[in-house]
Amino acid sequence: MSVVGFDIGNLQSVVAVARNRGIDIVANEVSNRATPTMISFGTKQRYIGESAKTQEMSNFKNTIGAIKRLIGRSYNESEVQQFESQFIGCKLCDVNGEVGVEVNYLDEPRKFSATQLYAMYLGKLRDTASKELGGSMSDVVISVPGWYTDRQRRAVQQASKIAGLNCLRVLNDNTAAALGYGITKNDLPEDKPRNVVFVDLGHSSFTVSVVAFKKGELKVKSVAYDRGVGGRNFDQALTDHFIQVFDEKYKIDIRSNVKAQIRLRAACEKLKKVLSANSNAPITVENIMNDVDANALYSRDEFVALIEPLLQRLEKPIQKAIADASVSADEIHSIELVGGSIRIPAVKQKLTEFFGRELSYTLNQDEAVARGCALQCAIASPVFRVRDFSVNDITAHPIRFKWEATDGSEDTNLDVFAHNNLIPSTKMLTFYRKQPFAIEAEYSDPTHLPQGTNPWISRFDIKDVVAQENGDLSTIKVKARLDLSGVLNITSAYTVEEVEVEEPVPQPETKEGEEPKTPEMRKVKKLVKKAELPVLQASQCLDNTTLAEFAKLEREMHSSDELVNTTEIAKNSLEEYIYDIRGKVEGEYAPFIEPKEKNEFLSKLNSAEDWLYDEGEDTTKDAYVEKLESLKAVGDPVTERYREDKERPKAARELRDVI
Ligand code: ATP
Ligand code: MG
Repeated sequence: MSVVGFDIGNLQSVVAVARNRGIDIVANEVSNRATPTMISFGTKQRYIGESAKTQEMSNFKNTIGAIKRLIGRSYNESEVQQFESQFIGCKLCDVNGEVGVEVNYLDEPRKFSATQLYAMYLGKLRDTASKELGGSMSDVVISVPGWYTDRQRRAVQQASKIAGLNCLRVLNDNTAAALGYGITKNDLPEDKPRNVVFVDLGHSSFTVSVVAFKKGELKVKSVAYDRGVGGRNFDQALTDHFIQVFDEKYKIDIRSNVKAQIRLRAACEKLKKVLSANSNAPITVENIMNDVDANALYSRDEFVALIEPLLQRLEKPIQKAIADASVSADEIHSIELVGGSIRIPAVKQKLTEFFGRELSYTLNQDEAVARGCALQCAIASPVFRVRDFSVNDITAHPIRFKWEATDGSEDTNLDVFAHNNLIPSTKMLTFYRKQPFAIEAEYSDPTHLPQGTNPWISRFDIKDVVAQENGDLSTIKVKARLDLSGVLNITSAYTVEEVEVEEPVPQPETKEGEEPKTPEMRKVKKLVKKAELPVLQASQCLDNTTLAEFAKLEREMHSSDELVNTTEIAKNSLEEYIYDIRGKVEGEYAPFIEPKEKNEFLSKLNSAEDWLYDEGEDTTKDAYVEKLESLKAVGDPVTERYREDKERPKAARELRDVI
C-alpha cells in the first residue's frame, strides 16, 4: 500500500511519500522537488509537468496551467471569464457543463474538461511517485484550497478515479501544513490549547487559518481567504507596468503579441524573485518583438509601491480569521508561514505589521503542505504505524437544505451546516411525510463563493415514502453528513415508529449485604427504525458512464504517450549504437574483425544511419528495435572477442597470483 501526499499548487506541485524513516519529498525526472502544474498538447503526445513548461512559449495555444483554478467550475462563471482567463493562453470552452480547453492534440481539435486535465496531471505525479516507490501507487491524500466548493472537491475525487488513484481524503492545504506542524511537536499542551496561525501566500491565493493544538489533536478554529492575491498577481502587476514602460521607450505594443507577453511575464517573475534579495535589478527581454531588445532597471522600492494595493488586501483575511477564532493577540503562540510568495521582504513586513508581532519560520514553506498530506495518508493507512493525530477541520461555506412544505405550516428550509462547521460532521433531520419528497442543498451565503458559482449543491430524492398504516404521516429521519473531504451526502434515510416498550425502572445501587430488589418495570415510548428509504442524489459531477469513459480515454492517452517515449528511446539507442560501434570498429576493435566483414559492417552501419535520416526519421518502435538487433548480430561477436582478449591477460594474472 502506498502512502503518498500530493500538494497541487497553481504553479507547481509537490509529491511526498511516507516511509518508515519519515516523510520524503520525491524529486521528478529532472531532479526538481516541485513539478510545474502544466499540460501541453503536442502533435504526437501530451507533455506534462517539466516538459510542458518547456513548451509554454512555443506552443502557448495548446498549453494550460491554472487547472487548480478551473476544476469543478463552469465556463460561464464570471470569475472564470473575467479573472482566470487572463492567466490562460489557450482557448477555454464548455465540456459537459464544466470549463475546459479547446486544443490541438495529435493534429486534431480536441476538448478536455478541467477534471480531465487535473486527472492527466495527477497521472504524471502518480508516475513520479510510482517510480520512487518501485511499484504502482494508489492511495493518496490531495491538498485543495479551503474555499473549494462541494463540486470542486467531488471533481478532485473524480479526477483521482480517472487517474486510477484512490483519494483517501481531500485535505485543505493549511490544515495539511498544520498537521505537519502538530505531529512533530512533542511539547503540545494537555489542557489549554496552543493557538497557531498558518499563513499561506502562494501563486494564486492567500489563506489564513487559526488552529488550536493539544496533545494528539488539532482543531481548525477559523479560516479566511483572498483568492485574488498571490505571486501571479504580483507578476501581472509588473507585466502591466513594463508593457507601458516598453511602449513608451520602444514604441512596441506588447499586448498585440501573445508570445511577447508570455516572455515578458516570465522576465517579470524573475525580476520579482531577484528583488527579494536585492534592492535593484535589471529586466532584460532579448528580441521581445520587432527586433527590440527590451531592458530597464527597476528597484525594490518601486516594486513595493506597485504592489501596495495587493499587499493591503492581506489585512482583511488576517483580521477575519482572528475575529472568527475569538482569540486575543496574546493567546496566539506563533505565526507560521507557508508558500513561495512569503519570500518577498515587503510581504513579511506587512504580515509583521498586520499581526503586530514577529513571524515564525519553522515549517518548510515549499513542502509543508505535501508532507502534511502524506502524514494524513499514513494516519489513514492500516499498514502504516504513525503517531495518531486527530485532525478536526472546518467548512468554509454554510449549507442550507430546502424542501417543499406539505401544508403551509412547516418551515421550508434549514441552515444545516454553519460557516466554520466542523468536518466531518453528521446532522439528523426529521420530516413528516406520506409521500416521496425531495431536499435541495445549497450554499446559503453565495457572497463568499468564487464569483459566479452556482450555489446549488445537490438534490436528494427520498423515495418509497408511504403513510403509516392508520393513514397518518410517517416520521422520517434523514442523516446528512459532511465527510472528511468536506463533501456533502445524505448517508441514510429511514422511517421510525413509536413503539411502547417495557424497561426496568433504574434502581438506587444496592448497599453491601443488602438483598438485590426485584426490578420494577415501566412502559415507555421509543422511536425505533422501521424501514430504510432509498435516496437518489444528483450533484454537479460526472455520471458514472462518463467517468468510466474518461478513465478509459486517459489510460489510452497515457499508453500512447508511453509508446511515443519508448519509441524515442529506441531511436536514440539505435543512433548511439551506430556512432559508438563505428568508432570502435575503426579503432580498438579492428584487430578482432576480418577486413571484409569490417567493410560490410561499416556499410551496413552507414545505410542504417541514412535510413535514420530518411524513412526511419519517424517510424515505429519495433522498426528501431529490429534495426538495432540486426546491427548487434554483427557487432556483438566482435565486442565479445575484444572483451575476451582484454580479460584474458587479467584472468591469467589473477591465476598467477592465486598460484
Ligand atoms: P497556490 O498555493 O497559490 O496554488 P503554489 O503552491 O503553486 O500556488 P507556491 O509554490 O507556494 O505556489 O509559490 C509560488 C509563487 O512564489 C510564485 O508566484 C513564485 O513566483 C513565488 N516565489 C518563489 N520564490 C520567490 C522569491 N524568491 N521571491 C518572490 N516570489 C517568489
Ligand atoms: Mg500552494
